[in-house]
Amino acid sequence: MSAPVFNRVALIGLGLIGSSIALAARDRGAAKVIAGTSRSKQTRARAKELGFLDEIFNTPAQAVKGADLVIVCVPVGASGPVAKEIGPHLKPGAIVTDVGSVKGAVVKDMTPFIPDGCFLVPGHPIAGTEQSGPDAGFPELFVNRWCILTPGEKASPEAIATLSQFWQVLGSDVEIMDADHHDLVLAITSHIPHLIAYNIVGTVADLEEDTLSEVVKYSASGFRDFTRIAASDPTMWRDVFLSNKDAVLEMLGRFSEDLSGLQRAIRRGEGDTLEKLFTRTRNIRRNIIDAGQETAKVDFGREHTTSSNKD
Ligand code: NAP
Repeated sequence: MSAPVFNRVALIGLGLIGSSIALAARDRGAAKVIAGTSRSKQTRARAKELGFLDEIFNTPAQAVKGADLVIVCVPVGASGPVAKEIGPHLKPGAIVTDVGSVKGAVVKDMTPFIPDGCFLVPGHPIAGTEQSGPDAGFPELFVNRWCILTPGEKASPEAIATLSQFWQVLGSDVEIMDADHHDLVLAITSHIPHLIAYNIVGTVADLEEDTLSEVVKYSASGFRDFTRIAASDPTMWRDVFLSNKDAVLEMLGRFSEDLSGLQRAIRRGEGDTLEKLFTRTRNIRRNIIDAGQETAKVDFGREHTTSSNKD
């Protein structure tokens, strides 16, 4: 266990990410005291039962009192209102960060409410699952994952260095990036794939009942993996698309053009075009596995019995 990076950390939001940070920080000794709060009474009560916090408060204003690090773990659209609520109660010198999947909007919405003498360093751990809520958290979530910080040019180098150290203690590799660049990169690596999954599962949901039951029956084919992504939290993803509109629309334009190209190749019987693309994409997957960002196990490591379905 390493020496604590912070004396007192406050988590605002105790869902998948907030609870995972608390569990990881406790396991690895990243903070002396971990405090937190969540909007609903139910989540606060559940967090108390699960016991991953040292102190639980009813409001964000109470939770941030005396905290050296405040981590806002709520849907992106709620980060501005939370910043407004905690701003007057922050300890001088406190570092404020977040975990939102979009960064430009967070910088714009939170900055006006962070008082002079406190330091905003927005962040995004590139780690997650399709589950949500305090029960979904686990301490290894951030191990060998990237955490991107988007501090902006005027941010304090000391605040960036200390926050980086915190994430490293949690097991992550830290990268510093411009917020707009982050949003463009994540639009194609995360946001568009989610949109495609939501769309394909939505298309299936609209099919007639007979076909729909066959889709469910034979879902071991690629469809099943789309349903995992499309089971992700609706509020979180609504906010991602609304707050990363420009980058998502730009990448969606490119995606649609490429899809039209594939449509044309299929119509014209251009097997070479298809095979060339599929070879390139297979290499990209190999690179992701080699970079340690995905398992090399067949079918994502799912267990197979002799009677299980095949793709
Ligand atoms: P989650 O499990 O659904 O938890 C969301 C938390 O935010 C809960 O504590 C919830 O409180 C609170 N909340 C929801 N709406 C709120 C509002 N309007 N005002 C104040 N609090 C509100 O979500 P999560 O997966 O931890 O995601 C949290 C953040 O992490 C999001 O910004 C997301 O973009 C980012 N992120 C998610 C992933 C992922 O894979 N899930 C990965 C990286 C980053 P109650 O439960 O008390 O209602």
